[in-house]
Amino acid sequence: MTGISELLLSRIRDVQDYPEPGVVFKDITPLLADPAAFTALTDSLAEFTVRHGATKVVGLEARGFILGAPVAVRAGVGFIPVRKAGKLPGATLSQAYALEYGTAEIEVHAEDLSPGDRVMVIDDVLATGGTAEASLSLIRRAGAQVAGVAVLMELGFLDGRARLEAALDGAPLEAL
Ligand code: AMP
Repeated sequence: MTGISELLLSRIRDVQDYPEPGVVFKDITPLLADPAAFTALTDSLAEFTVRHGATKVVGLEARGFILGAPVAVRAGVGFIPVRKAGKLPGATLSQAYALEYGTAEIEVHAEDLSPGDRVMVIDDVLATGGTAEASLSLIRRAGAQVAGVAVLMELGFLDGRARLEAALDGAPLEAL
């Protein structure tokens, strides 16, 4: 493991049985409160974003906003929020996706993405991959290209990487 991975891991707090029994919640607030760790994370995600030629960063609500916004500024590209349904005031594209029980829906302002954009999706945790997969559908439906997906960590036992494989269509997935 590299030095940066050790630093980042040491600043993530495991909270048992949150928000429900059986779930280990990965709490990144200690990392955000440590300027050295937050800067290292931002720099690393921005380097990946630039290396893969992204012209926009999409952040997934809510922690993807906290990570994606400084990454976009550092990479010199625009930031686009993908929000839970009903939060964006303008004309939106919506994408529903399956959860373990029921469905969820995310939205993006249609005017924020254009053909010719190459989009990097940023979030804190890749779990089942459902949210990221739905965001890739939104990007493609807007006519833009997928530059990749970059997360702080993936929960390998949930197989999100396998679920995303088809949607990525060869684009890279980075988990720091
Ligand atoms: P998924 O769509 O299953 O990949 O879930 C990803 C979203 O849920 C991300 O936006 C994460 O912030 C959040 N999430 C899922 N599982 C966890 C976990 N164990 N700890 C913290 N956040 C999680």
